Amino acid sequence: MITTQWVSDIASPILNISNLSFPKYKTPDTLYHYLQTHYPQVEEQLLQAISIQSDHTYVSIEDIVWESQRSCLQNMTLCRQHRFFPLFEGPSQVGILVDNPFNPIIDTPELANLPAKSIIPFTTTSSQLNQWFHQIHQSNQPYSILDQIMIDAHHSHATDIHFSETLTHIHIQSRIDGLMNPMQSLIKTDAPYLMNQIKVLSHMDLGVTPYPQDGHYHWKAGTTSIECRVSSIPTQFGEDIVFRLMTPDTAIKPLNKLGLSDDLYQAFSQTLLQPNGLILITGPTGSGKTTTLYAALEILRQKKDKTIITLEDPIERNIPGVRQSQINSKSNYTFSSGLKALLRQDPDIIMVGEIRDKETAQMALDAAYTGHLVLSTLHTNSIEMTLHRLASFDIDPFLIGHALRCIVTQNLVPKSCPHCNHSGCSECRFQGVLGRQLQAECLTIPEPIAISDYTEGTRLLFEKGQLTKSKWSNNDPAP
Ligand SMILES: [Zn+2]
Repeated sequence: MITTQWVSDIASPILNISNLSFPKYKTPDTLYHYLQTHYPQVEEQLLQAISIQSDHTYVSIEDIVWESQRSCLQNMTLCRQHRFFPLFEGPSQVGILVDNPFNPIIDTPELANLPAKSIIPFTTTSSQLNQWFHQIHQSNQPYSILDQIMIDAHHSHATDIHFSETLTHIHIQSRIDGLMNPMQSLIKTDAPYLMNQIKVLSHMDLGVTPYPQDGHYHWKAGTTSIECRVSSIPTQFGEDIVFRLMTPDTAIKPLNKLGLSDDLYQAFSQTLLQPNGLILITGPTGSGKTTTLYAALEILRQKKDKTIITLEDPIERNIPGVRQSQINSKSNYTFSSGLKALLRQDPDIIMVGEIRDKETAQMALDAAYTGHLVLSTLHTNSIEMTLHRLASFDIDPFLIGHALRCIVTQNLVPKSCPHCNHSGCSECRFQGVLGRQLQAECLTIPEPIAISDYTEGTRLLFEKGQLTKSKWSNNDPAP
């Protein structure tokens, strides 16, 4: 354990002062900072002496080989604020450049958003660290405004980034655990090309008159890459652009790890054993529908004698042994035209990313009725709403009664912060909530039901089907 006395003992012969004592400085970090700012002429000597007597390595910036590809990403503002620069990242270690050998982030890397790994400090003088920052700034790579936003979003585990234009500003917010958090507000004149840059990178048109568009953005820096679904809508001051962040490196969660109650897990996994029928996962945007779909596919793919084909927009995870196909509306490969093509190959199990229109709904139900197991999602908030939605597509009630096997409706609701018991702390960014948990209901229909109209049909489905709701444990807050 390094003490202020230890630092004083090293500094004293260098400064030629015997019995140095600095009672005002309680930690080696603050004492070193004092010495550094008051005796800059011996800063280098001091660092070298410290490196000899400890495990720090003194470096001159000319000797640094920066492996930008292996560097964990950082926001430069944060680097300057905490006086460090990440040089490389290994599986269990992160090498950083610091100008204070006792910088608190060496022991607590989380303070500076660094991965919680063992930190290897390389020390240099403060003027050299400043020079390093300057060089990085000049090279202007890879830290553009957009990169910084992506880095911040990545570090805070954001699921969405929202860019909204006002008359004078671009406000940038991120969604973390379902809640919006401000990220940055840029004056438009400081970032005149940001919105256009986003559109170009997301393969969108730069029309003079904005119109709603969809695109995708693949961001990569170092060893991190993020796939984003991008959408834009025109507003009175310009545009609103939303990124939905997909993380391909996140492993598929097994169905029994999604947080479903035991009853619901049992009911849903029984449904997956059916040879045919339609299974619908429903819920609002960001409710984890796709996660549930992938978990179901993960179970289904273990039936080696079945062929599985998916239609996705976009393909968020690669599943070994499953033929996955990517929707491309520009070349008119939509859910409905894709489904038509795919049925000609007569697979056993079909996953359709989302039912958005009548044609897809009709085909998915036809396929389910004619011997295929079909899984899909629908953007509705309850089981009743799902049935209304199918009714609005004008689907024959007979088909619903004979092909629909299961509706899961789900949502992710905030969990009370375990560190502060809902009163707000730095762990939960003073929101009182941290993380989310799955809330779900599942209606299974084990036998075909003869239905002639929707009003009667809804009643019959609830009467003959089995409804399971996920239960709350006592520790969880009510939704
Ligand atoms: Zn808290």
